[in-house]
Amino acid sequence: DRAAVSVLGLGAMGSALAEALLAAGHPTTVWNRSPAKADPLVAMGAVRAATAAEAISVNRLVVVCLLDYRSVHEVLDDVAGKLAGKTLVNLTNGTPGQAEEFARWAAEHGADYLDGGIMAVPPMIATPDAFLLYSGSSGAFDEYRETLDALGESVFLGTEPGQAALHDLSLLSGMYGMIAGILHSFALIGADRAETFAPLLRRWLTTMTAYVDGAAAQITEGDYTLGVVSNLAMQAEGYVNILRVAEEENVTPVLLAPLGPLMQRRVADGYGHEDITGLVELLTNQK
Ligand code: NDP
Repeated sequence: DRAAVSVLGLGAMGSALAEALLAAGHPTTVWNRSPAKADPLVAMGAVRAATAAEAISVNRLVVVCLLDYRSVHEVLDDVAGKLAGKTLVNLTNGTPGQAEEFARWAAEHGADYLDGGIMAVPPMIATPDAFLLYSGSSGAFDEYRETLDALGESVFLGTEPGQAALHDLSLLSGMYGMIAGILHSFALIGADRAETFAPLLRRWLTTMTAYVDGAAAQITEGDYTLGVVSNLAMQAEGYVNILRVAEEENVTPVLLAPLGPLMQRRVADGYGHEDITGLVELLTNQK
């Protein structure tokens, strides 16, 4: 028998999660602050809960996907007394600190807590492209893994509740760094050439993602000379031209400018023969 689930929060993401659970055959109860968002799911076979308290009461497994932690507290604080014995899976985006604080709050109210990060946009849910990060209660993960797999591949990151959020936000940081570069390159190339430029950009970025694995090996070893083919001194020189062409083409360098001085500083410190990965040394311990 498929585990019964309650889903709190039926925004774009919560609705996709509830739909995936229904499609996988899980009896699913749904609740949303604005009740109309439950209508399409009820038409698909979901049970409508009139209140968050009712949704929590009817099932042991409760999945929460709201805008932010403030809304999570707004919804759950009033019904905290009903959480004892429940398993709370919180897929709301937040920081590791928020996840840890919320894990303590859940424990105080007798709930088993699993924090999660969704690495997918709503249409990707329940497709092979989707993966979800979890951390916190390993018992809850083991018990409900099959249920959670209906949403996308489940990746458990250990019992520290903040790890899913830390991994989620680190992945998003990499993505937004990439998006910053993409936006800058489109600004540089201009609207007339965007269409023909796109396949070249996609090909280049796809090839260059292999850098991730080499960088991880260098960082793990603490040796930024491992397998260097593009030394930092050379890259720092080339980067000057990236900032120069922006000026020539009247494009603000605001998204890419900070990398230049960091490269120059690392070279000046005597690391020009190493790989660019050594820049992480300049990023960490900034408190
Ligand atoms: P939406 O804006 O579509 O939905 C927001 C949801 O939060 C709605 O159900 C809304 O209820 C509810 N909500 C907001 N404030 C309150 C409140 N004070 N009390 C009760 N309910 C509240 O966002 P998504 O569904 O897209 O995102 C939900 C979570 O999923 C976020 O944390 C987001 O970061 C995460 N996520 C989203 C992704 C995406 O691409 N969409 C990707 C990965 C993660 P109401 O309908 O009544 O306004």
